[in-house]
Amino acid sequence: MILGAGASVAAFPQGDRNKKKLPVMHNLVETIGLADLLSDAGVAFEGRNFEDIYSSICGVPAHVGLTSAIDGRVAEYFRQLALPDCPTIYDYLVLCLREKDVIATFNWDPFLWLACARNYWHAKPPTVIFLHGCAIVGFCREHKPISMGQMGRTCGKCGKPYLPRRLLFPMGNKNYTDDPCIAAQWKTMKSVLEDASLLTVFGYGAPVTDAAAVDLMSQAWGSPHQRVMEEIEIIDIVCEEQLVKRWDRFIHSHHYRVLTPARVGETSTDFFGSLVAKHPRRSCEAMFHQNIEAEFIEDNPVPICGTFDELWKWFEPLWLAERQK
Ligand SMILES: [Zn+2]
Repeated sequence: MILGAGASVAAFPQGDRNKKKLPVMHNLVETIGLADLLSDAGVAFEGRNFEDIYSSICGVPAHVGLTSAIDGRVAEYFRQLALPDCPTIYDYLVLCLREKDVIATFNWDPFLWLACARNYWHAKPPTVIFLHGCAIVGFCREHKPISMGQMGRTCGKCGKPYLPRRLLFPMGNKNYTDDPCIAAQWKTMKSVLEDASLLTVFGYGAPVTDAAAVDLMSQAWGSPHQRVMEEIEIIDIVCEEQLVKRWDRFIHSHHYRVLTPARVGETSTDFFGSLVAKHPRRSCEAMFHQNIEAEFIEDNPVPICGTFDELWKWFEPLWLAERQK
């Protein structure tokens, strides 16, 4: 499962627990409130994409102070985001997948980490990968492999505090190989893509500024002709034609499905129509039975629950079967 900014917007269309809005790159300056910093430094920002602005000030001696103030404000905004008390799409994601599954996110927000933490004692979460870092996750690089944990806590291996990582990088220099922490995340990402049998992309627009990231993923996935049995599912708000074009390097023939809003302009996505939500904790098995063994399968959709007790109770038979196995 690959998550982009659109997944967090879909999970929290009205904002987080405290109604703080989820920014995307084209509205980040307004949403986070960076206009005063940019105006004071005489940097034009109206109508410009945030990554474009950031790349133009990074490394410019006159803007060292501005760059560091923006780094701080962006990190602080994302650090403060919080989950509401009721189950969210992020809770469904971590409960509908198993320990052997992987969620890789491009998002800096803390929702994936927090959802893993609050469901942890009921189900071991899937492996999580932060492809661009995370506002509340720090790393310890005292030893190999690099360990990661929530900032403010200490490393379980050496007792040293988890250190924050830089979140923002200028375009064309996203440090997928230089920064050892991000490089470690990408190493895992490449190996899981090589082995994946089902790939879901949720709200990730593969922007031009992430061309290097998409190239790395494509290299790991290989040619679509080598992946003839794999299934790709895309949850997004743009139309099928655009999605197929965007992901054509990953799709073999007709082995894809898209979940897009019923009407043009709608911003809600149908996560609950996805394979992950229709076959919780068994999505790869469901696809194996249907596509390889040519069996008729039935859906087992996860219900939309108002409370965690209700949700965890629904999962209990699945967890029991896993423990017995
Ligand atoms: Zn350590």
